[in-house]
Amino acid sequence: ASGYNLLRDPHHNKGLAFTEKERDAHYLRGLLPPAVISQELQEKKLMHSLRQYQVPLHKYMAMMELEERNERLFYKLLIDNVEELLPVVYTPTVGEACQKYGSIFRRPQGLYISLKEKGRILEVLRNWPERAIQVIVVTDGERILGLGDLGCQGMGIPVGKLALYTALGGVRPSACLPITIDVGTNNEQLLNDEFYIGLRQKRATGKEYYDFLHEFMTAVKQNYGEKVLIQFEDFANHNAFELLAKYGTTHLVFNDDIQGTASVVLAGLVASLKLLGGSLADHKFLFLGAGEAGTGIAELIALEISKQTKAPLEETRKKIWLVDSKGLIVSSRKGSLQHFKKPWAHEHEPVNNLLDAVKAIKPTVLIGTSGVGKTFTKEVVEAMASLNERPLILALSNPTSQSECTAEEAYTWTEGRAIFASGSPFDPVELNGKCFMPGQANNAYIFPGLGFGLVISGAIRVHDDMLLAASEALAGQVTQEHYDKGMIYPPFSNIRKISAHIAANVAAKAYELGLATRLPRPADLVKYAESCMYTPNYRSYR
Ligand code: NAP
Ligand code: MN
Repeated sequence: ASGYNLLRDPHHNKGLAFTEKERDAHYLRGLLPPAVISQELQEKKLMHSLRQYQVPLHKYMAMMELEERNERLFYKLLIDNVEELLPVVYTPTVGEACQKYGSIFRRPQGLYISLKEKGRILEVLRNWPERAIQVIVVTDGERILGLGDLGCQGMGIPVGKLALYTALGGVRPSACLPITIDVGTNNEQLLNDEFYIGLRQKRATGKEYYDFLHEFMTAVKQNYGEKVLIQFEDFANHNAFELLAKYGTTHLVFNDDIQGTASVVLAGLVASLKLLGGSLADHKFLFLGAGEAGTGIAELIALEISKQTKAPLEETRKKIWLVDSKGLIVSSRKGSLQHFKKPWAHEHEPVNNLLDAVKAIKPTVLIGTSGVGKTFTKEVVEAMASLNERPLILALSNPTSQSECTAEEAYTWTEGRAIFASGSPFDPVELNGKCFMPGQANNAYIFPGLGFGLVISGAIRVHDDMLLAASEALAGQVTQEHYDKGMIYPPFSNIRKISAHIAANVAAKAYELGLATRLPRPADLVKYAESCMYTPNYRSYR
């Protein structure tokens, strides 16, 4: 028991907050200056110094450094200042961090599993110091945010997502495991970068890729059992749908880009009905972008309408249209469409651009999920405004630079009539003396609570009805006071409470479906969820 090691152990270090008694008991005398200061004061000091940094990446690095030094203080900052720090530890800043990961890399914050470890993945998992893992977030780095293939440098994403699992959802940090699978990268710039930290080869594909992923999935289940949640994150869509379908029946898997996005967007739509009146079935949806996010959202909307109206999915899908890089998805293209687009190929003549698609389809809701910025042009938004009294416009592409339009543009071009939400945060907009509060359809509303609900119920599979349950719980947290400001998502400041409600609703569904293994079922699931949540306050060491 050396005090020196205690100060270097981020799980236990409290810095100057060690009390006089603790300093005596743990051989800390002399290793710290005499002042004893509280966690609150430490927090105040750190927030003050964070705010001195002008460059967001510097704030990110300071936060990562804190996590490596004093984990509880890191989470205390994140939880107490969530609205300010979410954009630092997560999107948009995490995107820049990934792009520069090679040069800011300090210490591994998760597991790297590369093709070099083929045949030995189980061994690699056993090198991780923690045994009782509840949530894994894994990426292969091929489609990081809207930034493309960042190879091994995608690690920033699982690290950031799991920090949110803890801060927003309440999963213990020691139960979280970030993993990057490195099968190479097709990013030439990285391959030629002398500081690149990943495998210097083109991506493995086909059988080699799928065999490697299979070894990984098998090893995870063997090592951690059936109740470990595996969240697939930022895989390219040519693998994401297949992996989710393949492992959905044998593992507890969840793809945030497909399912989490769908659930958070559906919640926003359900909430906006309070402002618009009517039901989901009264609306017509047009998407720009028919990948993981677009088709994932589309499918969950169709499922929800089908539940509400008892109409078959094949019918409810017809209210939803998608445009991809080749134009409107229509039946004449069916032969050449990727599998996940086929359900959306409805009867229509070809239309090759978004503006014409808006005019032809006359949607009430326009959703951007292409990853390409500035695509909701003035003409497109004006067309939506001429078709609808209150057009619903969701510009979901991340990071901010890729947003389809800005909040200001959406409000200005519709004379303030649009209901607007985006993927990356925008500040409130003043227009003609009125203040408009754009919503942020941030996946961070859903996945921490959803994952926590799976964990506390001991769920063994994810079911679509759990995604609907999560959406419903999130929409239920938007109050009249929020609606009065035009908000369709609740403020992030209440996120722990929101997550507890989502977790409870998801857990309830898990029990209902017979997929929960934690028995007996707690009577009050909201209370139970709250009581299980990790809190970052220092513990006293006796
Ligand atoms: P993805 O699977 O790669 O899909 C992108 C889709 O956009 C594809 O269908 C692609 O067409 C289409 N596309 C690309 N360029 C286009 C263009 N110029 N015009 C029309 N369509 C175009 O990516 P994803 O996972 O769905 O993510 C897309 C974006 O959504 C990213 O920026 C991501 O950050 C964002 N996102 C936001 C949230 C959120 O707000 N909560 C959640 C998840 C994702 P083809 O199929 O023809 O190639
Ligand atoms: Mn993602």
